[in-house]
Amino acid sequence: MSVKRIASAILRKVVELIARMPFGNHRCVVCGHSLARFLPYRGGSRNVPALMQALEMVGSDVEHFSCPWCYSHDRERHLFLFMQAAGFFSFMSGKRVLHFAPERHLSRFIEGAKPSEHIKCDLHPWADDIVQADLMALPFPDSHFDLLIANHVLEHVDDDKRAVAEIVRVLRPDGFAILQTPFSNVLESTWEDEGIRSADARLQAFGQEDHVRLFGKDVFERIAREGLESRVQSHEELLGSCSSRRFGLNQREPFFLFVKPRALSYSVREGAQ
Ligand SMILES: [Zn+2]
Repeated sequence: MSVKRIASAILRKVVELIARMPFGNHRCVVCGHSLARFLPYRGGSRNVPALMQALEMVGSDVEHFSCPWCYSHDRERHLFLFMQAAGFFSFMSGKRVLHFAPERHLSRFIEGAKPSEHIKCDLHPWADDIVQADLMALPFPDSHFDLLIANHVLEHVDDDKRAVAEIVRVLRPDGFAILQTPFSNVLESTWEDEGIRSADARLQAFGQEDHVRLFGKDVFERIAREGLESRVQSHEELLGSCSSRRFGLNQREPFFLFVKPRALSYSVREGAQ
């Protein structure tokens, strides 16, 4: 390892230790620690592509991103608070939960809610208890799950409409889907183009090297059109005056909650007969 890399690693550790000091007005809702600050993502907002800033992309809070104690990221903390406020930790008791791209800490909280099933899956599993699954072709039966969670997944999937159709298929009638995803508050229509393939082009155009589209303001309607009803709520509606800065999360991000309507499931069944 070069001297430069060693110095950089030491500096990172020092910054992390300082961030752990319990002097600031920050608190991690996942591990409960008081903090001097959350750690930024890739150097913070100054490194966000100019186009993403101009398009007012609503995604991670890159300035207050990871907890220096438990390394939870802002999206995980925000989803935990959203789910808590919406009553999902009571709802999940005895229910079947499908958790795509499962976050480590959130998984622990879900287990604590005692669901009858908690299947964790991912396209590229990184642990023995995670099932290999493609969101566009889920290996699960129809109308099986009460809740499906895919937190910041749809922006990575080649065909988001096919993925939502699969989500509708595996949800039971009245089942819920939580589908957080970054989107632009400026774009009228979702932007995707198969020509934008290189890591750098995707970073500039969609905000991250492995994103395949940038959803626009039509994202809620686009998801609902595939067979879900929107129950989307803003941060303010659900979490009121909960300080985004204190808890390290992006208050511009709404709770992407959808439900599979009962009527649709009947029509699908009738159509299949
Ligand atoms: Zn933490």
